[in-house]
Amino acid sequence: MFGRAPKKSDNTKYYEILGVSNSASQDDLKKAYRKAAIKNHPDKGGDPEKFKELAQAYEVLSDPEKREIYDQYGEDALKEGMGGGGGGHDPFDIFQSFFGGNPFGGGGSSRGRRQRRGEDVVHPLKVSLEDLYNGTSKKLSLSRNAICSKCKGKGSKSGASMKCSGCQGSGIKVSIRHLGPSMIQQMQHACNECKGTGETINDKDRCPQCKGEKVVQEKKVLEVIVEKGMQNGQKITFPGEADEAPDTVTGDIVFVLQQKEHPKFKRKGDDLFVEHTLSLTEALCGFQFILTHLDGRQLLIKSEPGEVVKPDQYKGINDEGMPMYQRSFMKGKLYIHFAVEFPDCLSPEQCKTLEAVLPPRSSVQLTDMELDECEETTLHDVNLEEEMRRKQAQAQEAYDEDEDMPGGAQRVQCAQQ
Ligand SMILES: [Zn+2]
Ligand SMILES: [Zn+2]
Repeated sequence: MFGRAPKKSDNTKYYEILGVSNSASQDDLKKAYRKAAIKNHPDKGGDPEKFKELAQAYEVLSDPEKREIYDQYGEDALKEGMGGGGGGHDPFDIFQSFFGGNPFGGGGSSRGRRQRRGEDVVHPLKVSLEDLYNGTSKKLSLSRNAICSKCKGKGSKSGASMKCSGCQGSGIKVSIRHLGPSMIQQMQHACNECKGTGETINDKDRCPQCKGEKVVQEKKVLEVIVEKGMQNGQKITFPGEADEAPDTVTGDIVFVLQQKEHPKFKRKGDDLFVEHTLSLTEALCGFQFILTHLDGRQLLIKSEPGEVVKPDQYKGINDEGMPMYQRSFMKGKLYIHFAVEFPDCLSPEQCKTLEAVLPPRSSVQLTDMELDECEETTLHDVNLEEEMRRKQAQAQEAYDEDEDMPGGAQRVQCAQQ
C-alpha cells in the first residue's frame, strides 16, 4: 500500500496478543477476546497496558477491512491509513460495546456518549399451512419512532441544548438509602427530567415538528416474504427497522411465524400427515378418493388391486410433503393414516355370506361337555374413557366428603343406578 516491504513480525502481533492463529474466524476472535478481556480487565487487577493492547488487536481484527490491511501491510500501514490521530478508540469503549455495557455503569460521563443498541421489536405473524407450502408475501403497516427530519434528532431549532439542571448533565441521579448506622446504599437511576440524556431544550428553541422529542411517529409498510418450507417459530428479521432514537443503533423488527392449525393436514418437519377413514368394504375390496393438496392440486389416491388396508395403518406418498426451506424443489413425504369403519351389526344371512368368502374362524369348536362346565357371561358395550372419568370423579367426591359420610354414600348409590 505504501510501497514498503513489511517485516514478517509486522502482521502477526495482534494474533499473538489474542492467542489465535491468523486464520481464526470472527467467532474465534470474539471468543478469544472475550476471555482475555475479562481476565485482563483493570477492574479485576489486570494490567491496563495489556488490556489496551487486547482491545486494539480486537478492534483491528474484528473489522474485515482493517484486518485485510493488517494482514497485508502490518500495524504501521494501519496507523498511517487511519490518519494522524491514531484513530484508536478508548479500550473501555470497545469493552462496553462488546458486552452491551450498561449506559449508567461505572463512572460514565455524558461526554463521549456511547452508542446504545435499541431494542428489537418482536411481532408474531400468523400464517396458514398453505402459506408455508406455497410461499407468500404479507404487507404489514407498522408505526415506529423515527428521528425527526427537521432537527435531525437534536430536538431544537438551533441545535443547541442546555445541561439538564436536574442531573447537572450527567443523565444520572443518585439516591442514597441508609440501611443502618454505618451502612448506606447508593443507587443510580436515569434522570427523569431529561430521560437520561443529560440535556434539556429551551422552550422557545424547541423543534416545531417533534416538539423537542427528537423523534416523530412514522408509518412504515414492511413486506414480509414467507418462503416455501419455512417453519412454525421461524424468525424473519428486518435489521434496523425498529424505533429510532438519538445516539442509538436502531434495533431490528423480528417477525416470528405462527402456523395456524390446519383442519386436514398436520406437519412434522418436512412431512405431512392426513387422516382418512375407509368403510370396511373399501378397506377389504379397494378404494379411491381425491385429496385436495395445499396448492389446490387434486391427488387421486387409490389402493392396488387385491390390497387390504388395516385399521391404524399408514401409507406414504413420496414428494408430496412440505417443500424444504431454501431447497423447495425437494419435498418431504405425505403420510396417510387410515381408520376403518366397521358396520355396527350384521344379519345372520350376511354372516353366512361373509363366512363363505373370508378365512375360517380361528376359535376352536367347543364340545358340549366343555360348554357345560363353563359359566355364561354377557358382554356389554362400554365407553372406557367415560367410565374411567366417572370413577375418578366418584373417588374424588368420596375423598372430599369423607367427613360427611351420609351425603357421600348417597351420591355413590345414585351413580350406580
Ligand atoms: Zn437530567
Ligand atoms: Zn424535530
